[in-house]
Amino acid sequence: MKITRIGALYQLAFMPRFFPVNCYLVEEEKELTLIDAALPFSVKGILQAAEQIGKPITRIVLTHAHGDHIGALDGLKKVLPDVTVYISRRDAKLLAGNKELEAGEPNSPIKGDVPKSVQTKPDVLLEDGDRVGSLQAVAAPGHTPGMMALLDVRSRALIAGDAFQVRGGVAVSGLMKFWFPFPAMATWNKEVALESARKLRQLEPSVLAVGHGRMIEQPLTIIDRALEEAAKKFHLEAANI
Ligand SMILES: [Zn+2]
Repeated sequence: MKITRIGALYQLAFMPRFFPVNCYLVEEEKELTLIDAALPFSVKGILQAAEQIGKPITRIVLTHAHGDHIGALDGLKKVLPDVTVYISRRDAKLLAGNKELEAGEPNSPIKGDVPKSVQTKPDVLLEDGDRVGSLQAVAAPGHTPGMMALLDVRSRALIAGDAFQVRGGVAVSGLMKFWFPFPAMATWNKEVALESARKLRQLEPSVLAVGHGRMIEQPLTIIDRALEEAAKKFHLEAANI
């Protein structure tokens, strides 16, 4: 596991070379918020990182319910039974193993590794705009129907889940990158993902922190390029159908 810090944001990267999976610790005055829960074997590394920082993890916020973002959830909940678990109302259904679409959603199948046997029940169902400590929840559907990004209102660091990928080339969720195609393969609806990516750009983040790949400081130019590329490619693909 590799730890990288930018201000109050710590990136914990598991398997950084082979198949990088990130989760994040956000430092508050007396406590830590864990964003996403990486892989089942990540429990130990996450607890060690919190110990190094010297504050307790009191909240776990899940950006979405894919297996590589909730892997250590049950393991952590066993060790930290008092932790409060947050996920969007929509992705709570995925967390419970339900892949059915809701009325009014674009008719594309929910993809990726949706867990089948997670024991942990979320304590709080997030809606767009909710606050969790210094974090503001920002609905960013597309990769999954209920994906939430989190904006640290102190620094404007944006923890964007899989709304973007950085590994294999910075891209909007749904745009296939040859060297790391997995986030695109797991994306529910790219048009919705592009809309959300545009909305996240409007927040003018100071740091872009995603599920797969390194953190990027001052990311606006890079995000703009990714938005342009996605708009062009998604448009061409749509024209070919
Ligand atoms: Zn995902």
